[in-house]
Amino acid sequence: MTIDSITDQSPQAPAKHSSIMENWSQYIKDIPFHCFVINEDGIVFQSEGNTQGVFKRAEQYVGLSIFELNDAFAAITHEIKETLNGETHNLSLVINGERFNVWMAPQQTSNQDISSAVVFCLAISQPDHYQSSLQEIQKHYFLFAEYTKDIVTKYTPEGICTYVSPTVEKVLGYETDELLNKPLFEFFHPDDLKSKRRLFKNLLEDPSDQTICYRVRRKDGEHIWLETNITLIDSSHHHSSHEVIAVSRDITERKETEERLLYLANYDSLTGLPNRALFRDRLRRAIARAQRNDSHVALMFLDLDRFKNINDSLGHHAGDQLLRGVARRLKQYARKGDTIARLGGDEFTVILEGINNADDAAVVAKKILELMEPPFKVDGHEVAASTSIGITLYPDDAADMRTLLKNADTAMYRSKEKGRNHYQFYTADMNAKAYEYLLLENNLRHALDREEFRLYFQPQIDLHTQGIIGIEALLRWEHPEQGLLQPENFIPFAEETGLIIPIGEWVLRSACRHAVSWQKAGLPPVRVAVNLSMRQFRQKDFVQLIADALQETGLAPQYLELEITESFLAHNVEQATEILRDLHKLGVHLSIDDFGTGYSSLSYLKRFPLNTLKIDQSFVRDITTDPDGATIAEAIIALGQSLNLSVIAEGVEDHEQVFFLKGRGCDLAQGFFFSHPIASEKVIPWIKRNLNNQLLFEQRVLWPEAFRQ
Ligand code: C2E
Ligand code: MG
Ligand code: MG
Repeated sequence: MTIDSITDQSPQAPAKHSSIMENWSQYIKDIPFHCFVINEDGIVFQSEGNTQGVFKRAEQYVGLSIFELNDAFAAITHEIKETLNGETHNLSLVINGERFNVWMAPQQTSNQDISSAVVFCLAISQPDHYQSSLQEIQKHYFLFAEYTKDIVTKYTPEGICTYVSPTVEKVLGYETDELLNKPLFEFFHPDDLKSKRRLFKNLLEDPSDQTICYRVRRKDGEHIWLETNITLIDSSHHHSSHEVIAVSRDITERKETEERLLYLANYDSLTGLPNRALFRDRLRRAIARAQRNDSHVALMFLDLDRFKNINDSLGHHAGDQLLRGVARRLKQYARKGDTIARLGGDEFTVILEGINNADDAAVVAKKILELMEPPFKVDGHEVAASTSIGITLYPDDAADMRTLLKNADTAMYRSKEKGRNHYQFYTADMNAKAYEYLLLENNLRHALDREEFRLYFQPQIDLHTQGIIGIEALLRWEHPEQGLLQPENFIPFAEETGLIIPIGEWVLRSACRHAVSWQKAGLPPVRVAVNLSMRQFRQKDFVQLIADALQETGLAPQYLELEITESFLAHNVEQATEILRDLHKLGVHLSIDDFGTGYSSLSYLKRFPLNTLKIDQSFVRDITTDPDGATIAEAIIALGQSLNLSVIAEGVEDHEQVFFLKGRGCDLAQGFFFSHPIASEKVIPWIKRNLNNQLLFEQRVLWPEAFRQ
């Protein structure tokens, strides 16, 4: 009987199949066995066997339910149903008085459903070699896969195809004859060839089941992904060597999904450039390679200038178009091996490998700036988009990724500060302050509108009369998060950014207004001293600005003192002379702050219409302990006297300093000894308490601790 004759009788048999036995016929020639193939309802549609005496003639079972064939099968109803649900079973069963090894396995249709199962029974009483044959048969069960969409193949260990299931035609387009006796590797994708060849070799050394994924060429020339389970079978008692059984499944769709997911995890969907995750990975690898090869890597951070304006004025859609345009230009320019990534927003980054030095990176940076020059077409508008670039080098600037990233960022912000459309290399003095500065700039800009500035006042004492002769206005910033900030934390920055001009004007007017209010409160007039920065001084119409402030606030000019730093006067003698003369004409008091620190020629002093020299506190600090400090202070006092200028000592903290200064003829003093700078609302009570109070003043000098503010 042939299988065909069985299947012809079977109403439930799948439309296309061939013999389930022909592929294992070599093993089962003399073995007493019986095999049933059942459909999903348990109805036998194939039956074959040679166990005379136990089973009836094979074909008599076709069309019957396996559960009703025999009590033994009825007893394993559960296992049979499990087999039809995809499980494999191996049991020992007594059928009609004889013990059988029963092996049951599911078969899948092309849409992965279980449509049938094989029940294979081998009499245990048979000689041992039949039992081992059973294992062979079980492995060769894969050859039943002609019913499934998997491709089953057999190879020699050298990879020569000795069997291929007909499914191959559907999946790969080849006739089975086109593959038989051909080397399997001939069909591999060139990129997979090397690793898979090695795998085959390893398999022979370590014969364990393995699953591999690789691409093969279809007959139409396209490559598809196969996932293949490989088993090595020792068929030495049939053949002279091993053979490899491979069950392969088309996983192209799954691979494509995987690749899509991988893409989404690593690429920016807007521009198609590597995203932050992939960028970090590439940078890590670039650093490792440079370390091995003793070479350099340049890391560039690019930030579009005023991107926010474009987004705000033309909308996000336009913003996206611009970003895509920028990405396109960058991609066109990139050399093979360079990484261009988008980190998010309008931030891009470039990793340059294999460069020799900073000059190479500069060439690229210049080129990128040029690339961005032509306007971009965005929603029918022509939009200009320059960028600012920060560059750092490995290993010159840093050896680790974190620091490199920080450096590039810092350099980029510096580049923006310098005026946009520039590139800037990182330098060691450019630490993270640049970034803090940017935040500061933002906040500082708003501090005036939000009225976060405060004036504190520090009295200046006449050491001869012990009276208050003046009071210095000192700026503070009441930062919403950081609390009260001292000028050293923001004035240098305000000077750098030019914000000192509006801030300085506020200080000036505000100080004048306070001075007027004290007078209005009935106190004797006290001169208010205002610190000026060089930038204010250089302003056009500066003198007019002072005149206006005085007029608007109603303060008489003699009650305003302007403190100017020595270095400005020393370096701008001509300009300063003119301005100081005008200010003098106006009637305001002029003093040189931090005197002695400018290391300048003193000859210019004569030319200026000054009133006061302020001895810098660094000299006063050591006046009683360090002979050099004492000598300088003495020299300044003497200089002041010779030029007919009053001299005020800053930073006086104890009574010994007071005695020393008074003894050397210093007229005035200011410092914590008399008072710390005090908040504006506390000024009136303070003056009231201390004005012309000689007794109190004397007591302070004698018992300073008890009276310190
Ligand atoms: P400055 O004009 O020399 O002000 C004197 C500084 O010394 C003040 O620091 C004051 O608080 C501090 N000081 C006063 N007495 C003592 C003392 O006995 N011991 C010590 N160790 N320090 C004392 P502050 O307020 O931090 O101001 C620092 C600098 O900031 C000022 O130095 C001035 O150059 C600048 N500044 C302050 N306000 C303004 C302003 O409105 N505009 C400008 N352009 N600069 C300002
Ligand atoms: Mg000052
Ligand atoms: Mg000073």
